[in-house]
Amino acid sequence: MSAIIMDGKALGLKIRESVKLQAAGLKEKGIVPCLAVVLVGEDPASLSYVKSKEKALTEAGMESRDIRLPESTSEEKLLSIIEELNKDNKVHGILVQSPVPKHIDEEKVIAAVTPTKDVDCFHPVSVGNMILERQGFLPCTPHGVLKLLREYKIQIAGAHVVIVGRSNIVGKPLANLLIRKEYNATVTLCHTGTKDLKSHTLQADILISAVGRPNLIKPDMVKEGAVVIDVGINRVTDTSTSKGYKVCGDVDPAVAEKCGFFTPVPGGVGPMTIAMLLQNVIEAALKRRVYE
Ligand code: NDP
Repeated sequence: MSAIIMDGKALGLKIRESVKLQAAGLKEKGIVPCLAVVLVGEDPASLSYVKSKEKALTEAGMESRDIRLPESTSEEKLLSIIEELNKDNKVHGILVQSPVPKHIDEEKVIAAVTPTKDVDCFHPVSVGNMILERQGFLPCTPHGVLKLLREYKIQIAGAHVVIVGRSNIVGKPLANLLIRKEYNATVTLCHTGTKDLKSHTLQADILISAVGRPNLIKPDMVKEGAVVIDVGINRVTDTSTSKGYKVCGDVDPAVAEKCGFFTPVPGGVGPMTIAMLLQNVIEAALKRRVYE
């Protein structure tokens, strides 16, 4: 069996084209959608994430307010910068790239971003609104996964979705969105406390891995014909590349021989995350999703 590749890059580009048109429409009204992208320190992976976000913003005709701060930045200083951005009417969204250096309390940083500009949907108020199905932004990666499932007309209602990973940014919000009536999935959420992971993953009509472990999901853990979504982004050493590493997901590539649909890494969920972030900045500029 040869699986269908779910092309997140192509769908992401389509969404970005639509975002570009919306941004142009806003510009005609004198509003330039603007995201402030704050990076503290020089973690190479974080730097590459923020660069691709900034590039995508510029390409969509939006403003990227790039704020680079040294590793030594104090928590107080970072919180005061966020407070200024909260007050700045020209800034519609604020993104603080995670992780922040160890001496800074990430929870405080997340709570400092006003929910009306919280385009990542990390603030406890944003998360509460999302769970209670009130107005508010949808979290980018989970929203991107749902868009991909819809694009490929995957039957979600009544499906058994097994998610591996319960982080605040992927697993938990994704499970909460999938149990909404509009999706109607039955969800199992697995983590390090799960006994016999394989016995759960084998039951999945839709299997989503968001762990951060290369090759965690092997072919014998996947039901024949299942939909496999690989959220994982892992850097593994590869001396044959100029960078000395390559990027792979959580899913063993051999799974493609067995499943019905799968997302590649790179080119699957990653580009969808960026596209949904841009869409959230538009929503913020339009004040459409804002709960006040
Ligand atoms: P976290 O490290 O926050 O969470 C990982 C989760 O996986 C935890 O819930 C952990 O369980 C669980 N886990 C770890 N090992 C196992 C195991 N052996 N069996 C079952 N569960 C396990 O990661 P994130 O959610 O932030 O990210 C996950 C991956 O997704 C990473 O590779 C990250 O780079 C990628 N990512 C990709 C995005 C994209 O746009 N494609 C966006 C965001 C993340 P426990 O809670 O018990 O510790």
